[in-house]
Formats: sequence, C-alpha cells, structure tokens
Amino acid sequence: MQGFAEDSDKITLPGAGCGPIVPAHDSSAPPLRQQVFDCVRSQGQIPRVDVAKHLNVSPASVSTLVSDLLGAGLLSEVEAPREPGGRGRPPVALAVRPEAGFVVGIKLSDQTHSGVIIDFAGRTVVEASLNRPSLRSEIELLVEEAESLLRLLLDKAGMERAQLSGVGLGVPGIVDHARGMALWSPIIRGTELPIAELMSSRLGLPVQVDNDANLLTLAELWYGAGRGLADFAVITLEYGVGMGLVMDHKLYRGAHSVGMELGHTKVQLDGALCRCGQRGCLEAYVSDYALVREASVALDLHRTASGSAQVILESLYDQAKAGNEAARTIFRRAGRFLSAGIANVINLFDPSLVILSGARMKYDYLYAEDVLAEARALTLNKARALPRIEANAWGDLVWARGAATLALSAASEALVGEAGQ
Ligand SMILES: [Zn+2]
Repeated sequence: MQGFAEDSDKITLPGAGCGPIVPAHDSSAPPLRQQVFDCVRSQGQIPRVDVAKHLNVSPASVSTLVSDLLGAGLLSEVEAPREPGGRGRPPVALAVRPEAGFVVGIKLSDQTHSGVIIDFAGRTVVEASLNRPSLRSEIELLVEEAESLLRLLLDKAGMERAQLSGVGLGVPGIVDHARGMALWSPIIRGTELPIAELMSSRLGLPVQVDNDANLLTLAELWYGAGRGLADFAVITLEYGVGMGLVMDHKLYRGAHSVGMELGHTKVQLDGALCRCGQRGCLEAYVSDYALVREASVALDLHRTASGSAQVILESLYDQAKAGNEAARTIFRRAGRFLSAGIANVINLFDPSLVILSGARMKYDYLYAEDVLAEARALTLNKARALPRIEANAWGDLVWARGAATLALSAASEALVGEAGQ
C-alpha cells in the first residue's frame, strides 16, 4: 500500500482540494430548454402548466422557453382531450411538430440491412430493408449498400435527402461511438475503420454510429419496456453476445465509448476458445459459432450439412425439437452458460429489468424456464428482490428504430439549441 500512501500525501497537500473534479460544462442535466422539449416529446401531448410541474420548475421559467420552441417551429399547440364532463373551451396542450425534422436509422447486418425514417416526434414514416449476399465485405460496399437503402426509403416516403437531419447507423461488433469508428465487425473486412466519416461524406448527412446491442437498448429506452425505468439491462444474442446498460435513464457507454462486452466476460478459466483469441468467454459457449462447433462434432453435421452456419443451426434446432438428446444437450448447456452471464449482470448492476433479445431468441431452449430459474439461483438474493427477466424476439426494424433515435437525439439537440439563439 506504499503507493497509496504516497498518493494520499500528494492529494492532501494544502490547496489541492478534495471532492470530484468535474468540468463546468460537464453538467449531466441538459439545458432547461432541452428538458422542456424532451418532456413534451416523451409525453406526446402535455399542457404547459404540467411541463413545469413535471420538471419541478416555476411556470414562468418554462413560459419563455416554450415561446422560443413554438417560434422555432419545433413545438405546436394542439387541442388536448377534454376531461369527461368538461365544459367551455377545449384545453390547449403542447406537442412536438412531427414535420420539424426527419432522421434515418439503418441497421447493417450480414444478410439484410434494415432502415427506417422517423419524424421529429419519433413516429415511423417509412420502413424498408435490403437483402444482400451474406459475406464479409469491404467497407466501401457497405457504404454503397447503405446509400441504396437510403434511396429506397426516400422513394417510398416521397421525400428528398435535403429534408433529412441525420443518420443513425448500427453496426455489429466493436464500435467506438464517440470517434465514429468500427474497430472490429463480423460483417466488415479490416479493423479501425472510420465508418461514420465514410458514410457521412457519401450520404451528405451527419452520421452517428453505435453497436447493435446499444441500438436495441435505445429502442427499449425510447419505445419499449425501458421507457419508465431508470436502470435496466439488455442482453442480445445474435452472432455474438452483446449487452446494453441504462443507468439513470441514460445509455452507459464506458470511458472508451465501446460499450459493454458481456460476450467476452469469462465463465470458465482456460475454457473454450473464443473468436477474440482468448479462452473461456461467455460467447464461446452461447453464440452461433459455439453451437455450430458443438453440432458439427456431436451430430456429425460436417459430413452431411454442406450449408452455412445458419443451416447447421437450423438443423440442430430441428433435431432438438424432434427429441434428439445430443442436440438438446447442446442447447441446454449453452442455456446454462447464458444463465451464468445473466446472473453476473444482475449481481454487478442490480437492474430493475433484464431484457433478453436478438435473433437467436427464437431458439427457445436458450430462455427456457430452467435457464431463467438457474440465473435466479446464481444471483445473490439476500438483500434485494430479483429483477424481472423478459425475452423479446424483435425484428431487425426495431434495431433500425433504435439507430434512428441516435440521429434524433443529435438533431434535436442541435435544433433546440438554435431555438434559443
Ligand atoms: Zn472472447
């Protein structure tokens, strides 16, 4: 502990101060104008006086900000539904003007890219998807495909590109949101790619990028089960195992902005080899390639099945359903490792809800009651109630909507900020 003693000597020097050192601009609460706008959007319709109550500020301090936002065309006044038996003039409420802006969300994937345009109130205007050959591609090809999908969306909506304020982009793998980099992705060749910049110069729009699991978490936060929750976790089962964490109503991204790598937490020292090169990762027991690896050996599939990993997985699942004991054991074992992963998340973060999601959730062995029961059994439960654990098998378009909220946040921050100038 010598180092600690030296350090504490240093920091207790007179004049060194104590307490967290937080830059003045790093306030965790957005400006009040932004809070007013966000409050109206989250409520759909809300009378002015209730905005003030909701934000716990005086009606007078809200009034000017509302006028600014009305003047800038970001909010409008609408007729609020009358109370039953109410008389006189119908009450007036505030709502976001949907046509104040439009953004795009795109989820890139190995087989199908999905996209959506949403308006400023967060409502879906149009959805589309683009099938592609399943192969690891050069980034230039993905940029081209994203542009084709964008054109498809605009045609379908009868809109011009100039009407859009930005693009949110979801990429599977390890993504640095702050720098807009795809550090590694199972669908892109190469590493450390400036994907946001490449997309932005091709599409002519600002681009925000994040990993798939964060997008799904944003979708739950904006539209789903997490809207009213301060703290919840989303665990995704796709090609790998991902995770998103909401703390105090905000997505937590960590110091390096690459998100939470639940798939590479260790569940067995010196265990199975993971595609990251290390051993014993959760992903090496639960993900597609782990199941395929087991299936190839146990079911002798490498001789019979000539197709992709997807074909082998489907065959494994069919055999498990048909009562093949070896196939069932493979899913059950994966399920047990998944329970350990879920329990670790609960033990670490104490969320009020854990949502299991992703394409692999259709393999119901992975979230069978005994998997959830085992997760509960592995969780320390002396001092607290166990959280709800829910399974959601959303389609790709939900991920695209999550991507769109990335762009919507950025666009509204910019426009709401301008409204005060
Ligand atoms: Zn790993």
